[in-house]
Amino acid sequence: MKLTARVGKVPPSITLAIAAKAKHLKEEGVDVCSFSAGEPDFDTPAHIKEAAKQALDEGKTKYGPAAGEPKLREAIASKLQSDNHLAYEPENIIVTNGGKHSLFGMMLALIEPQDEVIIPSPYWLSYPEMVKLAGGEPVIVPTKAEYDYKITPKQLKAAITPQTKLFVLNSPSNPTGAVYTPDEIKALAEVVVENDLLVVSDEIYEKILYDGAEHLSIGAINPEIFARTITSNGFAKSYSMTGWRVGYLAAPVELIKGMTIIQGHSTSNVCTFAQFGAIAALSGSQEPVEEMRLAFAQRRQVMLEAVSAIPGLSCPKPNGAFYLFVDISTTGMASLDFCNALLDSQQVATIPGVAFGADNCIRLSYATDMTSIEKGMKRLEKFVTSL
Ligand code: GLU
Repeated sequence: MKLTARVGKVPPSITLAIAAKAKHLKEEGVDVCSFSAGEPDFDTPAHIKEAAKQALDEGKTKYGPAAGEPKLREAIASKLQSDNHLAYEPENIIVTNGGKHSLFGMMLALIEPQDEVIIPSPYWLSYPEMVKLAGGEPVIVPTKAEYDYKITPKQLKAAITPQTKLFVLNSPSNPTGAVYTPDEIKALAEVVVENDLLVVSDEIYEKILYDGAEHLSIGAINPEIFARTITSNGFAKSYSMTGWRVGYLAAPVELIKGMTIIQGHSTSNVCTFAQFGAIAALSGSQEPVEEMRLAFAQRRQVMLEAVSAIPGLSCPKPNGAFYLFVDISTTGMASLDFCNALLDSQQVATIPGVAFGADNCIRLSYATDMTSIEKGMKRLEKFVTSL
């Protein structure tokens, strides 16, 4: 069967593939320490599960509006107003099948062939592939570990051409954990406005911050940048709801309408009773979010100390998300070879940096239990020192 050129241009998602391999090995009884997918190990908070169960019992099992349950769109709009100071109304919101799907639908609705999309590297691996699937051109701008892997306004300016349509901002970042300061966000916003670009702000890790780091939504700075901002978020990371597949996107109404047409012909609504769980996530206690953040903070500390004790490995101290992006260049190995050998010899699953545009690094997720972290880091040390 001959598949389209579109599919041929895009590799499979390595994060999903390695996470699936690690899960499979575990099921087979292999003692794997998985630092692969960014998937919190906590159960979804009980009140969220109860709300979804109640919705099932009440018969919320039918089709709903393609753009999402009206009550959920309202709850998201008020969350964005109160938490993020973004003046969105329910009509500015679309509920999607996870944060990933919100970005994919947005690219399909916005990107024409030849449109360029600026993506700072290291990047979350799906951004460039989504641009390509939509027919556009990803423009990758490499950033440096010395600058905590953040794009500077000068670099952003230099990457702009007459074809540039969109800039992808992800703070806190996957895979580096970098958090842009409010001043850095403001400086990038100026470039976006001056050059009349659009910016998509992927804020999926906004609640997972450390050491007093602050999250500023770029759209909150002033009306000029707000009009050019698309905000993406979801429930997976903050509320440990990865498998629920509920995300959302907030944007000017015309984009939401365009995405709703695409959604109407592709997925229809997101699972109806799952959306009722999401309403409870926003309206209920936010304490579980903070409890999980505190646990991540402890794990980050342990993992950072373990990395710094391994000769030859290094990484900047991240202020957000739940990843360490570790430089392995002193080993002289390509990241995929390193990760494969580490998994085969020590049963530690990690993601090769090549997937994120940085072959000199590997990504470690610490969204896993402390025992696995302690055991897995000892094995990583054994592996590196044996090279
Ligand atoms: N976003 C998470 C990660 O980077 C989950 C896997 C994926 O969607 O890529 O590990």
